[in-house]
Amino acid sequence: MQAPERPSSARLVLPHAGDPDSQRRTPEWKWQLAHAVRSARELGEHLELSDAERAGAERAEREGFPLAITPYYLSLVDGRDPSCPIRRQVVPHVAERETTRGDLVDPLGEVAHEVAPDLVQRYPDRALVLATDRCAVYCRFCTRSRMVGGGSGTRSLEHLSAAFEWLAGHPEVRDVIVSGGDPLTLATDRLVAVIERLRQVESIETIRLATRVPVVLPHRITPELLSALAPFHPLWVMTHFNHPKELTPLARAGLERLANAGFPVMNQSVLLRGVNDDAAVLAELFRGLTRCRARPYYLLQADPAKGTGHLRTPIGAGIAIMEQLWGRLSGIALPKLVVDTPGGFGKVPIGPDYVIERRPGVTRFRTPRGVEVEYFDPAAE
Ligand SMILES: *Cc1c(COP(=O)(O)O)cnc(C)c1O
Repeated sequence: MQAPERPSSARLVLPHAGDPDSQRRTPEWKWQLAHAVRSARELGEHLELSDAERAGAERAEREGFPLAITPYYLSLVDGRDPSCPIRRQVVPHVAERETTRGDLVDPLGEVAHEVAPDLVQRYPDRALVLATDRCAVYCRFCTRSRMVGGGSGTRSLEHLSAAFEWLAGHPEVRDVIVSGGDPLTLATDRLVAVIERLRQVESIETIRLATRVPVVLPHRITPELLSALAPFHPLWVMTHFNHPKELTPLARAGLERLANAGFPVMNQSVLLRGVNDDAAVLAELFRGLTRCRARPYYLLQADPAKGTGHLRTPIGAGIAIMEQLWGRLSGIALPKLVVDTPGGFGKVPIGPDYVIERRPGVTRFRTPRGVEVEYFDPAAE
């Protein structure tokens, strides 16, 4: 195991410091979860909060979408700079109470697409199981802030039994995404029980774990977890790195362990204003992920979840970034830019248009190298 990285802040006193047995009793990841910062007061002890952040944190503590940051992830935050890209992702801001045009409580229409309790289906061959409402860290741009952190916690197997039955009755579903909340915050035996149950449905081919734990709590990727999940391959891990600062030695080692244990690792980044809306930042992130064998899969336009307007970019910003990266970044490092359409009608790809003219039998392109060329269709039979 790696040496734990804890905030250097002297005020974060370890309760079991000096107790040589404590590491054996409490795995580091559980310690991190138990000591996540959850109040404005604690946050103010670690960071110099701006007035807007303090008001945001107090509001988060009182109502709605809660605040939680693991000590590890908090250690990546610049304590003095409110524009720190890590800080903007997790420290609440008073602007969260604003509603912008198009904002929705449930941006992806998941409630309308629920086919059984906590089972969402928006595509014929795929379905999404919401196994818990807990996360290690509550990202302020969360698309599921309507229910995440809401307090119902881990879904019991009994509660999920209607979802399992629905899946057994719908063999056209081949790909199941286990999400939440974050499935890797579940106890290992509970997570295994959910996956075991899914594996009893023979028509399910791939299972994906959608998780931010490799970013905010890499200590969770333990040998114990990996060997408990190994019998259930093919299991894909969908991670959620948004900024190159998140690729710490600890996070990189976690990704290495996942890849070595046979998990294909795909990364979904969300494009966020003042966090990663910059081609050079994203190029560094995507190259870093690729070196760790994590494939940049999607760059997602931020969903219009209520109260996230201050963190979102206009559609044109993402397209302009893709224009800068396409042709300059290795294809294996370049994700697709997608918009998950409001209302839950599916994801659509967007990006720069390289077709400048279509005539019968001839298409004219501009190329990343600035040259224009024509492609001629083959002669009709
Ligand atoms: C995003 C999503 C999927 C998976 O989409 P892919 O394009 O296959 O990665 C499946 N179901 C739901 C409900 C989703 O939101």
